Amino acid sequence: MDYGSSSPVDSRVLDAMKPYFDKEFANPSSIHPAGRSAKKVLESARASVAELVGAPEPKNIIFTSCATESNNLALRGAALRYRKKGNHIITTSIEHMSVMNPLKSLGKEGFEVTHVPVDSEGMLDVEQVKSAITEKTILISVLYANGEFGTIQPVREIAEVSSDLDIIFHVDGTAACGKIPVDVEKDNIDLLTISSNDIYGPKGAGALYIKHGVGIMPSILGGGQEYGMRSGSENIPGIIGMGKAAELTRNEMKKESERLSGLRDKLIGDILKMEYTHLTGHRTERLANIASFRFDFIEGESIILGLNSRGIYASTGSACSSKTLEPSHALIALGLKHEEAHGSLLLTLGKFNTEEDADYVIETLPGIVERLRSMSPLKPGKVR
Ligand code: PMP
Repeated sequence: MDYGSSSPVDSRVLDAMKPYFDKEFANPSSIHPAGRSAKKVLESARASVAELVGAPEPKNIIFTSCATESNNLALRGAALRYRKKGNHIITTSIEHMSVMNPLKSLGKEGFEVTHVPVDSEGMLDVEQVKSAITEKTILISVLYANGEFGTIQPVREIAEVSSDLDIIFHVDGTAACGKIPVDVEKDNIDLLTISSNDIYGPKGAGALYIKHGVGIMPSILGGGQEYGMRSGSENIPGIIGMGKAAELTRNEMKKESERLSGLRDKLIGDILKMEYTHLTGHRTERLANIASFRFDFIEGESIILGLNSRGIYASTGSACSSKTLEPSHALIALGLKHEEAHGSLLLTLGKFNTEEDADYVIETLPGIVERLRSMSPLKPGKVR
């Protein structure tokens, strides 16, 4: 129940990758036949990822090492490239740290960053994005869907606003790509971050879609690989894996999303029957794989420990925010008080979760919650 933190590599992906660790180890920049053959598979992986997100040409895709790197490249690359035009950037209050922190750092380099708030279900209001725009706005960055509560943002409407005003539009598609159809042309996206591990590809690979005509500054300089946008010898096994994962996702996404929505709705329906329990995120506009909750009077960490002892692994929020004891900024952005956000439980479903898994959680969780509440100093009169 923690696929959002890490997903296994699909066995078909692993099989596709294997020859590229030892037998087919050539560098795609080499001009001998082995190098040319590596170049060929690199380009076919690029075409596969391009197809997943509806990119018009494979060369719109730049391979990176992870979604974090893609976000950094997109944000710093666009900000530094368009600096002469303006220094204002708009984002939301619920972005992943790999967007928050590069923007914080740009803030120290003379850029002004506006964080547009979301409502209590994590939904952005396009009018608020519009009213944040100034003459100096050069970049808008909005995540397609949040990985902690799954709310899907009105990306197309925001794109309309940004393209009318010639503002670069970056979308962090890490949690959304492979879960819902993302189409850079229909969605009118200039820069899109794509993750490999979130689609059952290997870690160590990621991608950034760059629309034709959108120039950004590269952040890793060297031999000029990846169209000069990201130098360094390509991680061929990882890239092949990401390409294979993209192909499988394209074919299997619809059916898998329907199956996962069924499990998610079952979890949500049954877990919300418990007293003092709330859904986090939007009721309907949410990813198929995310069921997130808030339990009054108890702490998420204690629920996790209780679940662990029964063989269920879950999270309280983003794995990347788990190093601090503070609740995640995204939960606070929903308007939750600290003590409310502390009672969070995040269940992220994946390929290998079954109906029995959902039933087991539904059967196990109430006893854990009840026991913790019986010990909680915060309990109200009604809860024993
Ligand atoms: N953006 C979002 C929305 C995420 O949920 C994550 C974490 N999976 C990332 C970016 C960063 O991904 P990674 O740690 O693989 O670089």
